[in-house]
Amino acid sequence: AKADGRGTYRFFETGMDARAQARRLLEMDLRAALLRDEFEAYYQPIRDVASGRVVAFEALLRWNHPQRGLIAPINFIPVAEETGLIVQLGEFVLRSACSDAATWPDDVDVAVNLSPVQFKSPNLIASVTDALAASGLAARRLELEITESVLLQNSEATLTTLHELRAMGVRISLDDFGTGYSSLSYLRSFPFDKIKIDRSFVSELATREDSMAIIRAVTGLGRSLGIVTTAEGVENDAQLELLRREGCTQAQGYLFSKPRPASDVALMLNRPRLR
Ligand code: C2E
Ligand code: CA
Ligand code: CA
Ligand code: CA
Repeated sequence: AKADGRGTYRFFETGMDARAQARRLLEMDLRAALLRDEFEAYYQPIRDVASGRVVAFEALLRWNHPQRGLIAPINFIPVAEETGLIVQLGEFVLRSACSDAATWPDDVDVAVNLSPVQFKSPNLIASVTDALAASGLAARRLELEITESVLLQNSEATLTTLHELRAMGVRISLDDFGTGYSSLSYLRSFPFDKIKIDRSFVSELATREDSMAIIRAVTGLGRSLGIVTTAEGVENDAQLELLRREGCTQAQGYLFSKPRPASDVALMLNRPRLR
């Protein structure tokens, strides 16, 4: 917006108004983008550390904006959550991920991020059921990633939903592990299939003793509890080697590939590294 009138001038005067205005514009833009089909699921490979095989892809949302180009989720997911539009966006990602994954080899899974807002929506179970049915994807090939903030609401309803999803055969991952407040207690509240170790620990692996100790503790915990551990944000061979030594199950990061469009999945499956 340009300062071309009195109303607009006032809008620049107070930060709150400016933010509210920007948020309203973004919300309108998001609604239009949903109608115009400007969203796309990108995919990033997740490799088994021991064998090097691609075991899954994580679906990561992108916005192909006609003027602004490719927009990363950090720039629109918060507003989509505030406005509830994340429910529709989330359904789009679920449907895309399931139908794309149905064309991949049978031993390659797909992981989809779920917002806490989606979790509160009464449609969640139905939209997962619909996405699986429409695509024909086996439920065991779908992983849903949730963050601790979902469990923070720690309602019976949340746990019931998690158990319902699990009963359908879908797997549940705890994302961004180690960044919240009381991670360990969450492992007791629900039997997660996978822990994703946050990138911040991996990036400091070589330089900070305490990050190394935390990774060692989490992979050990995973082993004792029978939970798969996935390290996020692996960018170099030194990090991969340390993770291998600690017995981390899976690794994901720019070392292997950045997230890419569905049309690049075959390429990502066939090449150990793609940059
Ligand atoms: P996340 O779930 O923790 O996803 C991992 C993020 O780390 C992705 O950022 C990915 O591109 C980035 N990443 C992967 N490997 C590396 C690496 O080696 N180095 C660095 N520096 N970064 C790496 P992205 O795609 O921008 O997504 C950011 C966040 O947005 C995600 O974090 C997730 O919380 C959210 N998000 C993305 N797609 C969706 C979606 O479909 N639904 C919901 N609810 N949230 C989503
Ligand atoms: Ca994730
Ligand atoms: Ca994560
Ligand atoms: Ca993260």
